[in-house]
Amino acid sequence: MEHLFKAWPGFIKSVKAASHVLILADYDGTLTQIVGRPEDAVLSAGVRQKLQALAGKSGISAGVISGRSLKELKSLVAIEGIYYSGNHGMEIEGPGLKYVNSQAEAARITMQEMAAQLAEALENIDGVIIQEKGLSVSVHYRLVKPEKEDDVTGAVKRITAPHVDKGEISVYPMKKVWEIRPQVDWNKGKAVEFIGREIKAKLKASRLLTIYLGDDTTDEDAFKVLHRPDGWSIFVGSEKASSSAAYYLNSVVEVEEFLDRLIKLK
Ligand SMILES: [Mg+2]
Repeated sequence: MEHLFKAWPGFIKSVKAASHVLILADYDGTLTQIVGRPEDAVLSAGVRQKLQALAGKSGISAGVISGRSLKELKSLVAIEGIYYSGNHGMEIEGPGLKYVNSQAEAARITMQEMAAQLAEALENIDGVIIQEKGLSVSVHYRLVKPEKEDDVTGAVKRITAPHVDKGEISVYPMKKVWEIRPQVDWNKGKAVEFIGREIKAKLKASRLLTIYLGDDTTDEDAFKVLHRPDGWSIFVGSEKASSSAAYYLNSVVEVEEFLDRLIKLK
């Protein structure tokens, strides 16, 4: 893994060689700092302004791919003309584009039922935040007392186990969040490829450069589908050997600097 700014000459080469650039980023922990309450994760004025500038460039398409619901993600980011993908890629919307994974759609009722069971089981543990997001469920425990964390994990495992055993759902450990998703052959990587194909077809782009930035477990699927010179995968956080990303940036602050450099390049 190499720091992206150390590989900058190579990156410039890739940008120059591309007929169009697609930049996709995760939201929480990538474009915004990690916070205790999910509703407090808002874009800084600087990042918002840079995303807007990128979206306004004819040679660039931009998008945000998050574990949040599409609806929530759109209202948080609120920039026109970009791609949005919610529920870890299972829902996608963009200029002239709309997609919902049909297998995931079939799990909607199961997700609702599990969210209700989790709410009941965890109602006496302070700080737990359960997000029912339609196609998936998040159980946040960043605000839970450390000695109570095992109780949260226990309840999540117990309630999800029957569905995990049947192969209906998967449970992923994220940063102080349990992510419960339908087990479908679709993820952030498939969403990246899907949006890339759409753009290539729409713009007749002979050579598309795709950039993906992310900080957590489900972003690894996106890192895996991108290879140089036409795919640049960027992990956000301290250098991490286990990540599939080829490059890293240390923080959201460096991500903002990267966006600024990209604006000036294209
Ligand atoms: Mg994230």
